[in-house]
Amino acid sequence: MAILVVGHKNPDTDTIASAIAAADLYTKRGMDAKAISQGEIAPETAFVLGKFGFSAPEIVTDATDKQIILVDHTDISQTIDNLDKGELVAVVDHHKLGDVTTSGPLEMWVWPVGCTGTVLKNMYDFYNVEMPANVAGILLCAILSDTVMFKSVTTTDADKVAVEALAKIAGVADVMALGMEMFKVKSAVDGATPTELVFRDYKDFDMAGQKVGIGQLEVVDLSMLDAHKDALQAEIEKVKADGRHSVFLLLTDIMKEGSEMLIASDDISIVEKAFGIAPTGKSVYLDGVMSRKKQVAPNFIKAFEG
Ligand code: MG
Ligand code: MG
Ligand code: MG
Repeated sequence: MAILVVGHKNPDTDTIASAIAAADLYTKRGMDAKAISQGEIAPETAFVLGKFGFSAPEIVTDATDKQIILVDHTDISQTIDNLDKGELVAVVDHHKLGDVTTSGPLEMWVWPVGCTGTVLKNMYDFYNVEMPANVAGILLCAILSDTVMFKSVTTTDADKVAVEALAKIAGVADVMALGMEMFKVKSAVDGATPTELVFRDYKDFDMAGQKVGIGQLEVVDLSMLDAHKDALQAEIEKVKADGRHSVFLLLTDIMKEGSEMLIASDDISIVEKAFGIAPTGKSVYLDGVMSRKKQVAPNFIKAFEG
């Protein structure tokens, strides 16, 4: 039975592209591996897969009796169900180390870079495996997506070096044009339900024993969301009511490089504690904040623990 390669719940482009690439690489290293997904892919990811000729991976949500490779996460709250009833054999990631554990040794590739795709590019090089052009294309898009075209504070030199090399392999002449095309698809909000928008890029965290959800919508112009804000606020209130202390939704303007954060919380003072800015009503504008991973989640974790 093939080893299943899986990214986090509410899959983003990096999670899907890295699962496909890792399955290719591990298979070429002699381990039969197959990319799967924990859920429906987002419009941005569908665009990227379509552009380079891939279809969406099969959805599998249970790891019982399966060998598993995790990409793009190591948090139990974000991982496949019953991971502890399967066997975790490898991790490829670029986040803080989460709370998954193993009973045997495993292969770990966890680097502090902007995207799992960057780690994978270096793994192909390390194992001297030739990367197919279409795999290079989706990893390139994953890096542009995760680093918000290098604007995010998560961006490292390694990401830029990887993009340059991947563009050559994929035959992409204008990387930034491809990035803008992708972010326009990501920005499309009309026709999506509030639930779809809140969960399009959403993660649950355990913060000092409290369940906290943080969603993010990245758009090329925040005003696109004006007509949707009331519905989004109502939706995060509903999600919070389902057993969470707080739910935050980041509305990130990738051109202005800041985020408006919508707030649903049992204790709204946690926001000022985390960011030093008092919210107006149930939202706050965070200038220069674009990264949930590096700027938002760590601040909230500190505020909850403090
Ligand atoms: Mg991700
Ligand atoms: Mg990622
Ligand atoms: Mg992201």
